[in-house]
Amino acid sequence: MEKIAVFPGSFDPITRGHESIVHRGLSLFDRIIVALGENPDKKGYFPIDQRIKWLEEVFQNEKRVQIKVYHGLTVNFCNEVNASYILRGLRTAADFEFERGIGQMNKVIAPSVETVFILSYPEYSAISSSIVRDIHRHGGDISAFIPTSLKIS
Ligand code: ADP
Repeated sequence: MEKIAVFPGSFDPITRGHESIVHRGLSLFDRIIVALGENPDKKGYFPIDQRIKWLEEVFQNEKRVQIKVYHGLTVNFCNEVNASYILRGLRTAADFEFERGIGQMNKVIAPSVETVFILSYPEYSAISSSIVRDIHRHGGDISAFIPTSLKIS
């Protein structure tokens, strides 16, 4: 059976940390769906269409990666797309605590879906979309934190 993983997130914007987790995940899964969760209560910083365009650009040469937008529960989306795995990245102990709660509760509501964690490379563990947004908002240079193929002005 094809091993399909969903990599959910806001990707506001995609960073080198996200990119690396997807590439490393491809050694575990046949296909990865990078899934941008649209939350009606959170507008986000960059427009969704723009975030999707960047994701498509970054993974354009990777046939085993697809980009999708979803609404609602991640586990419901996994069922819709026949994914048995949720892929998440771990940077810090704080990430672990946050992910543990979500992962364990998801296991109760959707026992057939496994959450799989990949530890961030040390050089990416300080990178977060929220700090990238702050730097961008104040006119700083974010190029060291976003995928090398992207130009965000
Ligand atoms: P969310 O809104 O769910 O926090 P993000 O877009 O910030 O979504 O992150 C999506 C996933 O990528 C999460 O599993 C997060 O831990 C992981 N991630 C974010 N930044 C990095 C990084 N620098 N290195 C590794 N994983 C990361």
